[in-house]
Amino acid sequence: MDKITLERIEKLHPKVRKEARQIYDEICQALTGRAICRFAFTFRTIAEQDAIYAQGRTKPGKIVTRARGGYSWHNYGLAVDIVLIHDVDGDGDYDRAVWDVKTDFDGDKISDWMEVVQIFKSYGWDWGGDWKFSDPPHFQKTFGYSVRQLLALHQKKKIDPSGYVRI
Ligand SMILES: [Zn+2]
Repeated sequence: MDKITLERIEKLHPKVRKEARQIYDEICQALTGRAICRFAFTFRTIAEQDAIYAQGRTKPGKIVTRARGGYSWHNYGLAVDIVLIHDVDGDGDYDRAVWDVKTDFDGDKISDWMEVVQIFKSYGWDWGGDWKFSDPPHFQKTFGYSVRQLLALHQKKKIDPSGYVRI
C-alpha cells in the first residue's frame, strides 16, 4: 500500500473516489511480488494541463500529452495514470519506477501491469492501452460522457463547491 496513491485518490472526482480506493485495494492484493502500483497522476487542473500541453510545443522539453487544457479526463478527476514501483533488492524501499507492461514480478503467469488492467476494466474503466495512440499507464471512467460534454458543463459552471463537474 502506497501512501502517495491514497492521497492522490482523494483528489479524484467524488463519484469515483470510493471505487478507486476499492480498485487500489484489489491491486494491492493481486500484486504479491516486489512491485507495487502507484497512481502517479489523478487530478490535474485545466491550467496545469495547458502548461504541460505547452511542453514540447511552445515551451522546451518533450511532448508529454496530446490533450489541451479541458480535453483531458484528468481535468475532471476521472482518470488515473499508473506506474509500478519496484523494490529491486528486497529491502523494503521502492527503488525505481517501471513502465513495463510485460514483467511478471509476482510470478503468477500474468504480468503485473496486465493484472492492474484487468482490475480497472472489471469496474468499467477504459484503458489507454487499447487505443490507437496507445497510452498504457492511463485509465478513465467516462460514465458515458464525452470530454467535450464535461468541458461544456465546466464552462457553464455546473460544478460543485470543490470545482468538480456535476455528473
Ligand atoms: Zn492519463
